[in-house]
Amino acid sequence: MEDCIFCKIVAGELPSDKVAETDELLAFRDIRPQAPVHVLLIPKKHIASANDIADSDAPLIGALHLLAKQVARQVGVAESGYRLVTNVGWDAQQTVQHLHYHLLGGRQLGWPPG
Ligand code: AMP
Repeated sequence: MEDCIFCKIVAGELPSDKVAETDELLAFRDIRPQAPVHVLLIPKKHIASANDIADSDAPLIGALHLLAKQVARQVGVAESGYRLVTNVGWDAQQTVQHLHYHLLGGRQLGWPPG
């Protein structure tokens, strides 16, 4: 999608620090990490947010969760623990309108979030 920074990353028009990739998914490090480990997982196809996931996207979202598990192992937080979170809309302060899951870890994370 035009003017979507994550679509541009998928297309290779913007650089990213890739952690994992499949035909349908990409995982890369957040440019402004909020924890020692901060990876973003996205579907390559443009979906604006969790509100826009279609029934037919269920296998894709399942695959994304399996990739998150693999990435957590790969970056060394599978045992220590991590948070997998997606922000949706204004109140959650979603700033990029392309579905993404933050995988955060490497320190104890506060709860509830601010
Ligand atoms: P959210 O606020 O949930 O929409 O999260 C968007 C995330 O994307 C933020 O944590 C940003 O730091 C991150 N971000 C924005 N642009 C880039 C980029 N070019 N490469 C990596 N991460 C980015």
